[in-house]
Amino acid sequence: VQELDAGGMRVRLSSGETISFNHLVVATGARSRSSGVSGEDIEGIFSLRNVSDAVGIKHYIRERKAKRAVIVGSGFVSLEMCEAFRKIGLETTVICRKNYPMSKLGEEFAGPILQQLQGEGVNFIPDTRLSSFDRSSSGAVWVHTDGASMEADLVLLGIGVVPEVALAEQSGIELGPTGAIAVDNHMKTNKEAIYAAGDCCESYHRISRRPSYAPLGDTANKQGRIAGANIGGQDLVFPGIMGSYCLKVFDLEVASTGFTPDEARKAGMQVRSATIKGKSRAHSYPGSVDLQIRLIADNENGRLLGAQAIGSEGAVSRINALAAGLAAGISLEELAYLDLAYAPPFSGAWDPIHIAAQKLLK
Ligand SMILES: Cc1cc2nc3c(=O)[nH]c(=O)nc-3n(C[C@H](O)[C@H](O)[C@H](O)COP(=O)(O)OP(=O)(O)OC[C@H]3O[C@@H](n4cnc5c(N)ncnc54)[C@H](O)[C@@H]3O)c2cc1C
Repeated sequence: VQELDAGGMRVRLSSGETISFNHLVVATGARSRSSGVSGEDIEGIFSLRNVSDAVGIKHYIRERKAKRAVIVGSGFVSLEMCEAFRKIGLETTVICRKNYPMSKLGEEFAGPILQQLQGEGVNFIPDTRLSSFDRSSSGAVWVHTDGASMEADLVLLGIGVVPEVALAEQSGIELGPTGAIAVDNHMKTNKEAIYAAGDCCESYHRISRRPSYAPLGDTANKQGRIAGANIGGQDLVFPGIMGSYCLKVFDLEVASTGFTPDEARKAGMQVRSATIKGKSRAHSYPGSVDLQIRLIADNENGRLLGAQAIGSEGAVSRINALAAGLAAGISLEELAYLDLAYAPPFSGAWDPIHIAAQKLLK
């Protein structure tokens, strides 16, 4: 689609054809953020947004017999790609602007991720800004930073995404404070008969009660279905998000729902938090591993505001339970004695969730 005429209710395609509509869903997704430094268009520098990008990267590695990969950024996609690159034997270096990977989780959660990366042979370079790229005489890429320069056969830019809103913007569809398309709880834009869903639009954040931008696949699916149902004559409301997510970093599960302590404070809330190190199964049960959980609660009313968990098993299931509690407005008192399912292969009689809630109540 090259042009959207919202008033005239039609779109113009690159073929020149024009299509009229009674209803339209803008689902243009997001695009990879550019690094903004010179040389980004040199061959061998990739971002990963879709299956074609993945196929292109695989093909390039095979063709060029690549051995050294540099990943710029340390968010989800970057960390997941560390595992993919190490699995095929690539020397892998991560350049990170901040001190730690996944820095939004804070040091106590980023520490185990860093340990995992380094244990798997990933070279992690903190506090470093990319400055430019150059083609090297051997056909590789020189990656220049405000610290060292390094040569790589392949560079992956993993520095986030921006909503793809050009089409919407030029047709007068309103953007929200996050820069993504503003929608109401029926996924409708400000234009009659035009809806938006997925990575191109904002989501209402149920904890901050503000619009937020959290481009994730499960949210995109739900929003798309709500938009479609409403167009089809139903009256469905998208309840919003709580910022839940999870990822796998080699053997680690990392998961979060709601706010981290920093996010809560930035949203102007008075909070307290507690982090505990528990076990994924009953202590006595074989295979039990460390499981770190942090709970964040409102200082005044003791309601849960967020939770993070990390460990080689059981982190995601705990966060999903806590996400359900968060949606229901659960308090720490309720969490401390919550009737969670218990059997030794899955948890202790006191689950790490209970222990964390009890610690935070003290
Ligand atoms: C490597 C990777 C791993 C991920 N892992 C997870 C995960 O584990 N969990 C999770 O929740 N999310 C994950 N995501 C995010 C998830 O993929 C996205 O949130 C989801 O794909 C968004 O769906 P969408 O339909 O809104 O956008 P997209 O999937 O980006 O689709 C948008 C489509 O619109 C097309 N388009 C754009 N402009 C136009 C135009 N003008 N005309 C015609 N077509 C147009 C694009 O070409 C594209 O096909 C991951 C993303 C990546 C890149």
